[in-house]
Amino acid sequence: PAVALQPVAPNIRVVVRVRPPNENEQGENSRQVLEYDIPKHVKLKYSNDSRTVVKVVDDQMLIFDPKEEAQAFFFHGVQQRGRDLLKKSHKDMQFMFDKVFSVECGNDEVFLHSTHSLITSLMEGYNCSVFAYGATGAGKTFTMTGKPETPGITFLTMTELFNKREELSIEREFELGITYLEVYNELVKDLLNPGPPLQLREDGKYGVMVAGIKVYKIEKSDELFTLLEQGNRNRTQHPTDANAESSRSHAVFQVYIQMTMKGTGEVRTAKLSMIDLAGSERGSATGYVGARFTEGANINKSLLALGNCINSLADGQRHVPYRDSKLTRLLKDSLGGNCQTVMIANYAIRAKKIKSHVKRNLVNVELHVG
Ligand code: ADP
Ligand code: MG
Repeated sequence: PAVALQPVAPNIRVVVRVRPPNENEQGENSRQVLEYDIPKHVKLKYSNDSRTVVKVVDDQMLIFDPKEEAQAFFFHGVQQRGRDLLKKSHKDMQFMFDKVFSVECGNDEVFLHSTHSLITSLMEGYNCSVFAYGATGAGKTFTMTGKPETPGITFLTMTELFNKREELSIEREFELGITYLEVYNELVKDLLNPGPPLQLREDGKYGVMVAGIKVYKIEKSDELFTLLEQGNRNRTQHPTDANAESSRSHAVFQVYIQMTMKGTGEVRTAKLSMIDLAGSERGSATGYVGARFTEGANINKSLLALGNCINSLADGQRHVPYRDSKLTRLLKDSLGGNCQTVMIANYAIRAKKIKSHVKRNLVNVELHVG
């Protein structure tokens, strides 16, 4: 049964991006059928076996943990026993979102239907925030930063902002400054100028600010991609296991916009924050429900606090626990109120099976996403 789109909040949109499988994830679904022939008591571990964990129904609907395609349950044309039992292990849950981007969607298309519309709010002086959420490897950095040949939505949004500045140059004067920082282990660090942790402070003009961070005045988006890549290289990494550690850092790109109206001299400020969140390893394909965050044992403090803040805003609660973490304190003036927020949930369409036990003609599959 289809689950209706959960009303999050009028100013919070939730979109989903599904990435194509990589080489390791392209194993055949049907391979598990062959395991029926393997004697019981034999335990196997596969490294390259995988299955589809997310199915895109249309541009608004997704099925998490879909039933395997019928073909997977046939072996030499004979339907296998145990098929029904296997089926039961799939939750096959349908959800609706504001927009679903399928594997063939490029960063341009994601940009057009996610952050493009934020430019209007920024021009009116409202703060905006964009989050890429998902397990490690789900495509957050690809979506936000992208690659030189296919820049991500941070670059594309900035390019649009520069276009807008050009368009409005007769009536306003712009000043743009960018910062790129990381929140790691509840410490704030400048990604463009590595150094000791920085403190948050309140500023009369821009609201929450990071004391001592270097603000880059940029004039066009050309130089931006290089800056982003350079910043990403400075994200905290564990010397022996880059993935495990870097996935716990939140990369926060911020643009401070000051607009002076040429006629009246009125000054308007707005802030855009684009965040490549830490890996939500517990928010697996089956654990992420609509716009809700799941609480997992290993979840990062800032990520958990962000989820709680968004849930509070969605529920229309008066108290929003911004003070619970560094990330939410940093973004407290960019969430709720008149701010526009876009949450981009990233998923890999297929995931590896990390464990398969062969047991009495029944294959139990444990899924691990990410
Ligand atoms: P995350 O930042 O969530 O850990 P990445 O963005 O680094 O994940 O993506 C993991 C891998 O998948 C990278 O090699 C990336 O280039 C690739 N990838 C991610 N999304 C896509 C996509 N939409 N199309 C093609 N390749 C992708
Ligand atoms: Mg990443």
